[in-house]
Amino acid sequence: MFTMNKFWEKVFYILTAVFQGSSFLSPKAYGIMHRLHHAHADTEKDPHSPKYSKNLFDMMWKTRIIYSAILTDNANTEDKFKKNVPYWAALEKIAGHWMVRLAWAAFYILFYMKFATVWWMFLLLPIHFLMGPIHGAIINWFAHKLGYINFKVSDTAKNLLPIDFLMMGESYHNNHHKYGGRANFGIKWHELDPTYPIIWLLNLIGIIHLKKDNDLNYM
Ligand SMILES: [Zn+2]
Ligand SMILES: [Zn+2]
Repeated sequence: MFTMNKFWEKVFYILTAVFQGSSFLSPKAYGIMHRLHHAHADTEKDPHSPKYSKNLFDMMWKTRIIYSAILTDNANTEDKFKKNVPYWAALEKIAGHWMVRLAWAAFYILFYMKFATVWWMFLLLPIHFLMGPIHGAIINWFAHKLGYINFKVSDTAKNLLPIDFLMMGESYHNNHHKYGGRANFGIKWHELDPTYPIIWLLNLIGIIHLKKDNDLNYM
């Protein structure tokens, strides 16, 4: 969808590590896994398809196994899926280390102890520990099961919400499967994509370079 130079790639790598914290996912491995999802959506080769899982947790577990195999280069992935993904070996090693993950978890607990005002707020801690996989599972499970479609596609991708206030635009998943290289996930007038203006601005000031076909008006 877009490219950036090595300096900015490192900046975003650090931001990813800080904000994903305990549930850091390798941008490289996630990128490869996501390409496999698009190429094989809702077939047996799909790394996460509700069609081939009994329930949400079964799918999350399978995704975890495939993600780990990709991360350690044991997934027999074709070379074409591995090209031009971001990679910073040292930072992946640090951010993905179990001690660093535990340190983030400890930090979240301390943060809650300092700022939580009611006991039930602590029930939100597991969501914080597993923010990355939970975010993924919401899209990969629900946006392949519930919602409406704008386009007939060869898989089950749906637009989960008519106005995506929850997933920052990512839940316009039917649009995204139809036009995988399009930065703006919204197509219909009500489908506002809150992430797109940020991408648009980053492109305008030259931090990223959107590929040409993003200028096309698809509707
Ligand atoms: Zn999908
Ligand atoms: Zn995608």
